[in-house]
Amino acid sequence: TEVNRIRNFCIIAHIDHGKSTLADRLLEITHTLDRTQMASAQVLDDMDLERERGITIKSHAIQMKYKAQDGIEYTLNLIDTPGHVDFSYEVSRSLAACEGALLVVDATQGVEAQTIANLYLAIDAGLDIIPVINKIDLPSSDVEGVARQVIDLIGVNREDIIPVSAKAGIGVDVLIEAIVKRVPAPADNNHLPLRALIFDSVFDAYRGAVIYLRIVEGSLRKGDRVKFFANDKLFLADEIGTMSMKRQPKNILESGDVGYLICSIKDVKDAKVGDTVTLADNPAKERLAGYKDVKPMVFSGLYPINSNEFEDLRESLEKLALNDASLVYTPETSVALGFGFRCGFLGLLHMEIIQERLEREYGVNIITTVPNVEYRVMLTNSEMVIVDNPSKMPEPGRISLVEEPYVSMQIITLADYIGNIMKLGMERRGEYKNTDYLDTLRVIMHFEFPLAEIVFDFHDRLKSISKGYASMDYEYIGYRESELVKLDVLLNGDTVDALSIVVHRSKAYDWGKKLCIKLKAIIPKQMYEVAIQAAIGSKVISRETISAMRKNVLAKCYGGDISRKRKLLEKQKEGKKRMKQVGRVEVPQEAFLALLNID
Ligand code: GDP
Ligand code: MG
Repeated sequence: TEVNRIRNFCIIAHIDHGKSTLADRLLEITHTLDRTQMASAQVLDDMDLERERGITIKSHAIQMKYKAQDGIEYTLNLIDTPGHVDFSYEVSRSLAACEGALLVVDATQGVEAQTIANLYLAIDAGLDIIPVINKIDLPSSDVEGVARQVIDLIGVNREDIIPVSAKAGIGVDVLIEAIVKRVPAPADNNHLPLRALIFDSVFDAYRGAVIYLRIVEGSLRKGDRVKFFANDKLFLADEIGTMSMKRQPKNILESGDVGYLICSIKDVKDAKVGDTVTLADNPAKERLAGYKDVKPMVFSGLYPINSNEFEDLRESLEKLALNDASLVYTPETSVALGFGFRCGFLGLLHMEIIQERLEREYGVNIITTVPNVEYRVMLTNSEMVIVDNPSKMPEPGRISLVEEPYVSMQIITLADYIGNIMKLGMERRGEYKNTDYLDTLRVIMHFEFPLAEIVFDFHDRLKSISKGYASMDYEYIGYRESELVKLDVLLNGDTVDALSIVVHRSKAYDWGKKLCIKLKAIIPKQMYEVAIQAAIGSKVISRETISAMRKNVLAKCYGGDISRKRKLLEKQKEGKKRMKQVGRVEVPQEAFLALLNID
């Protein structure tokens, strides 16, 4: 039957191990794309940002036709998965749409943290795994050593591991045959009522939401009335089809198929990843397992530099949210920054992407506040409040306890760096669990961390203390009680709400001091003296003073060096654009992120 000729699979790998390059080779060998179209390599990463960062942010799916050595033409659906922990729920839904996974490991790097994290997700999804060792063309590759790691990890035989060079195209022919032979065909569930898994949705300005789905049971015809479990709304299936390089409209999608659905949905929040589509007239009783409402984990205030750009910011956020069901935002007011929005993100990368897109694609100049996590605060009157903005932390006297989110983390490293990593773990309030040896040189260390301690720069620090060798991955494990306090910053006696942070009591003094010193360095001299203070409640714990301005900046140039003068002027102009008047003090954008630059 048809369904026996379908293979649904994904590629999972640690970042930079060659997922995108391998995907390109598969598109090429199946003539889905030819060499000229390949000119811009890595076609699956189609957003600028993705290309720059070398990561696939949004999952896509692409259909290939391949005539195998057995003479049969197979339909291969490659489902691309996002490569970052912020999007691990989306990864899990993409995996759920597949029967098999290629586990790609770099022959020069070996197994890394995301290799293992992704492998576990794939095993959870019940996928058949084809291990692939990539970059065998590199002189520094250690194919047999890495093969042993893979064997230890998943208990396969050496001959089941496929060595390839995605870059040079070596072994790709063997691999594609293995996909046909080793990835199981989807189950034939055509007789059941429709259940289709949404594994992605994107927004098209003309057509509304374009929903990527896997038909798990039943079939879907063009013109059917469909319904979504998450909202019980009815929509008409205006267009259905499959994706190769473009959308290919079809009249029917059947169980086992991967395709798209367009049904005049105006808001991607009505087509949530993980939800199930069924037919209005012959509905399935239950939605498919594994649906989850994803919650933002990291929050930040976004404020227009010019207060008259508030409406522009609102419109831009609205447009972005149309395409991104996980972005949430609510208006908020800051004494220091005026009208803006409190935005919730899946993680720091997600936050950076949104901020960059707002500036690049929508041209709004924004000030962002230091990112924070969401706290649960039990009040003395036994009420519970959720605090997603540090300045909204209740007064100490009203608090009976505060809880913060925790993650469990795995770090893979050469054993040489265990000491450094233990030290970093301690600095970040980590709870060390245990260490397992992966082989004679490499270990996997397990920790639990407060999310707040790793959202800033943990990954960069880890890389630098391990000379780039350590890799990490984490998952959210729930809330725990912590000794947290609110640290306020005052400029000339006025609290600057946008600079408030929540920190562990043991770190409050240190942070207060460093923050004052940092702000002193960032805030330019003004016409009068500026006092910078850090305080917990009414208690001032640190103070710095910026003396009043004496000379004009240009005086320093002695009129001699023109280019230097111009540079300085330009820099000043640039800086001015980013200045915010806070009370009587001019504060540059940088100050609101000063905390991020403290070590
Ligand atoms: P991804 O992050 O897993 O998608 O990795 P990419 O496909 O973007 O590859 C990361 C880097 O490794 C890029 O610079 C690729 O050109 C390079 N690369 C990928 N596969 C190979 C390979 O087989 N051999 C060599 N030498 N380089 C490769
Ligand atoms: Mg990639």
